[in-house]
Parts: sequence; C-alpha cells; structure tokens
Amino acid sequence: MRLPPYNLDRPFFRGNLHGHSNHSDGALSPQEVIRRYKDLGYDFACISDHLWHDARFCAQSVLDCSSFDTTNFITIPSAEIHCQGKTYDNDGLWHFVANGLPLDFSIARKTETAPELIDRALAAGAYVTIAHPAWYSMTFDEAMVVGHADGVEIYNHSCAIGAMRGDGTGVVDYLLQEGKRINLTATDDSHFHIPDSGGGWVMVAAESLQADKIITALKNGYHYSSTGADIINLDLEGERLEVETSPCSDIVVVGQGHASLSHNGSNITRATFNLSALKSGWFRVSIIDQSNKMAWSNPYWLNDIH
Ligand SMILES: [Zn+2]
Ligand SMILES: [Zn+2]
Repeated sequence: MRLPPYNLDRPFFRGNLHGHSNHSDGALSPQEVIRRYKDLGYDFACISDHLWHDARFCAQSVLDCSSFDTTNFITIPSAEIHCQGKTYDNDGLWHFVANGLPLDFSIARKTETAPELIDRALAAGAYVTIAHPAWYSMTFDEAMVVGHADGVEIYNHSCAIGAMRGDGTGVVDYLLQEGKRINLTATDDSHFHIPDSGGGWVMVAAESLQADKIITALKNGYHYSSTGADIINLDLEGERLEVETSPCSDIVVVGQGHASLSHNGSNITRATFNLSALKSGWFRVSIIDQSNKMAWSNPYWLNDIH
C-alpha cells in the first residue's frame, strides 16, 4: 500500500513557505524576491514578512503579492507572526510562520499569548508552523504550549548558514514523543542579506497549483521537506516499509524514544525496513546524500494507516 501523498497520484509543487522582503526586514523588493524564486524553478513562494508592532523590522500588514501570480507560479498570502513572551529571544518575541492568511489578519495584541495567536491564525484558515526552534533555543516546555500548531521547521536555511542553528529535530521529535500530530517543513527564511534562498523547500502534492489547494495539502501532510534530496515513494505492506529515493548514502527511519533503523551505502535508491523492530506507534523517514542534501517525510502514525 503506497502511503500518502504517493498514493494520490498528484503532481508535486515546489515551494518556499518562509521568506522576507523589504516590506519588513528583507533586502529586496517583493517583486525581486518573487523573480528570484521564479528563476530558481519554484512553483510557489510565500513572502512571510514579520507582522508585529515594532516598525524597525516588522510590517504592519500582510502583503498582497497576487499581482505576481502567473499560470504556472503562485504566491500565497503569509506572514511571520509574533507576540510577546518567548524566553531566549532578544526582543522577547515568539516566531510562527502562517501561510494562507487573510490579508486583513491583524497584528497580535500586546497581551495576546502564543497559543492564542496560533488559535487565531488556525481559525483564519492558515497553515501554522513553529519557526526555527533551535535558532532561539525553544525549550520543550515552550514547545508544548504551541504544540497545536500544524508543524515545525525541521530545517531553516537562513538559520543554518547564518547561525548553524537551522535544525529543528529536537523539538520535532519531542512533540512526536508527546503525541502531538505535527508535520515538518524545510524553509529558506530568506532575507537576501546573505545567500539564503533556494536552500530548503517543501514538495507539496496538491490537486492543482492554487493557494487553497496547497494549504489543504499541507494541513493533510501531503508533502515532504527537502534541501536537495527526494523521497520518491513510501510503500507499507504489513510491517514492511519500502522507501524509494533519489540517489543517497543513508536512508533512516526513526520512531519513539531512540528507535531507529538505517540502510547505508552509496548511490542507494531503495531500502526495505521491518517496522516491528522500531516498537513505535509512529515513524518518519529521513535521507541524506553524498553532498549532504537531505529530505524528510512527515511522521506517519500506524493507527491512522492500519
Ligand atoms: Zn523568525
Ligand atoms: Zn523569518
């Protein structure tokens, strides 16, 4: 049985969910940001400028980029939404990426809490992710407070090359251990002050290239995350998981606790695992190739599959 999204026989659309323009603290105009993503061959991009009261680095409104849409490239109204109360941030702010926001989505009230802000963005129909947890030392207690978000950035390219704090694995697996049904995303968080575009993206299996279809697919977890490698198919027959990938060196399946299985070599494109060895209610797949390009599946919960 092919696992979703591979069983859907849909096209995959490549997109960046997290990026900035000079509407907030990015270096480039929205038009130029979009031109860069079109040139990189993306199918969609989100300009998720900071939305908060501090005009030094934040916009005061969600940007409408729809004038840049074409038949084979779309933008999705987005913002990086902030509110107060985060420890280990120099401004004391939380950071969440909200994709598919209504243009009139308002800045958080100064007393709005992180769970309230997430609830409001979810109620507005957005796909909400916990941004760059390692970049600002998100504690596990903090992660639990916002664990009802749709997902977590497993990879943030700007934080990776600018701070070597781009990896979200710790918070991702902690929330999974705690039973939170979160998805994973890889994003650029591009500001274009450093070469931080084209480094992390999602491949979304959507019915068609329309903003609402992309958001629905993301909320269903019909995507995988990538920095250059591809998870081409996942097939589960009983406890036997077959993974098909772009050529890589390591294919890994992880589950509850420290459970993991791996297949290692060079130019591997296929591996088979017996999931009963994981003794876990959930699993997720990661791969890495010889050039350190990676890909991550979303988590799969065995109760949902069987
Ligand atoms: Zn941020
Ligand atoms: Zn950002």
